[in-house]
Amino acid sequence: MMLGYLLARAGVEVLVLEKHADFLRDFRGDTIHPSTLEVMHELGILPDLLALPHQEVLQFSAQVGEVQVPIAEFAHLPTHCKFLAFMPQWDFLDFLAARAKRYPAFQLWMRAEVVGLIEEAGRVVGVEVMAPEGKRDVRADLVVGADGRHSTVRERAGFAVQELGAPMDVLWFGISRTPRDPGMSMGRFDPGRIFVLINRERYWQCGYVIPKGSVERLRAAGIEAFRETVAQAAPWARDRVDELRTWDDVKLLTVQVDRLTRWYRPGLLCIGDAAHAMSPVGGVGINLALQDAVATANILSAPLAQGRLGERDLAKVQKRREWPTRATQWFQVQVQQRIIAPVLGRSTSLKLPVFFRLLARYPILRRIPARLIGVGVRPEHVRSPEARPPA
Ligand SMILES: Cc1cc2nc3c(=O)[nH]c(=O)nc-3n(C[C@H](O)[C@H](O)[C@H](O)COP(=O)(O)OP(=O)(O)OC[C@H]3O[C@@H](n4cnc5c(N)ncnc54)[C@H](O)[C@@H]3O)c2cc1C
Repeated sequence: MMLGYLLARAGVEVLVLEKHADFLRDFRGDTIHPSTLEVMHELGILPDLLALPHQEVLQFSAQVGEVQVPIAEFAHLPTHCKFLAFMPQWDFLDFLAARAKRYPAFQLWMRAEVVGLIEEAGRVVGVEVMAPEGKRDVRADLVVGADGRHSTVRERAGFAVQELGAPMDVLWFGISRTPRDPGMSMGRFDPGRIFVLINRERYWQCGYVIPKGSVERLRAAGIEAFRETVAQAAPWARDRVDELRTWDDVKLLTVQVDRLTRWYRPGLLCIGDAAHAMSPVGGVGINLALQDAVATANILSAPLAQGRLGERDLAKVQKRREWPTRATQWFQVQVQQRIIAPVLGRSTSLKLPVFFRLLARYPILRRIPARLIGVGVRPEHVRSPEARPPA
């Protein structure tokens, strides 16, 4: 959506295909990072975005057992917004779509699922789309696969995938919220479990992190046992855990961390999770996908507008974005291996990891995670032009 917006803004005819009828998916997290907000500022749409309901998180902490550990403080970031915004991603996507539609070069088809690639003489020249009226072909100078971690495009293109692995999956469910509950989104680490709660005003979006492959064991123990586990992790919500009536109310989100060795072929490019599936660690995947979109528009808008797009241009996108991807995934894998896996595997009380103890003791160190989470590696800035401002 972001790339569609930027390309249409630069005067490039663009069609965004979304397989669902709306953006009401709850599997993608809610964080909008300072660097993403900076992009909104550069586009002149930040005040309108922040007029939508959201929460501003100035600092980020985790609860380890009964100890509250400050992790990141965003006050010192070199960005306009020195906070992380929590906003349901469907609101953010609806906002971007509405802005993009102001440009005549932009089109969005909902309920349009890409099911195959059209190839001619070794080049991708379009996609096969399953739409409500049936299957149809769409031709394009460039196909961009931005279809997430279960990408059809990357699979149909036959790209080689390097798996980095993840020790966990996430159970995802909602519990209603009352005015007596804590106000802020939070993460809690206890022996054998990690519990994340995102405040969505009317309800808590809960993420319960489990060892990979352990869901069948949990299901076999019954939903009552799971309700009790949730009540132990969030005692103030004990009176509401029976809202989880059956396992149908609890979705399994599989976590994967991987990346393509090559992100492009003639006529085709993958970005975002389709090029590099991100772990939920640090909540940075949306941000990285968005930075890919900004870089792609910066590099490709001129060649696309002038009809001279070549494979070398696509290579430049991978070259620009591969290093931030590798660095971010390295950080995620370190946290997975050094913190998440040991916590999930532990049955006795947790020892505070050394880095957490240092963060608690020396506030200045909290600027490091703030920078990694809030801005990330190699933040992008909008350089693609605005060809024709909207009426
Ligand atoms: C449990 C979990 C929690 C997470 N929490 C966070 C968080 O809090 N913050 C954060 O920044 N990141 C988080 N992440 C990572 C984040 O979800 C991804 O990195 C991010 O969504 C990637 O964005 P994307 O646009 O590349 O793909 P997606 O957000 O997955 O978007 C892909 C889009 O393509 C559509 N689509 C898929 N297939 C097709 C098709 N064949 N045809 C047409 N359309 C198609 C989908 O419907 C979807 O709208 C989390 C990940 C997991 C697993």
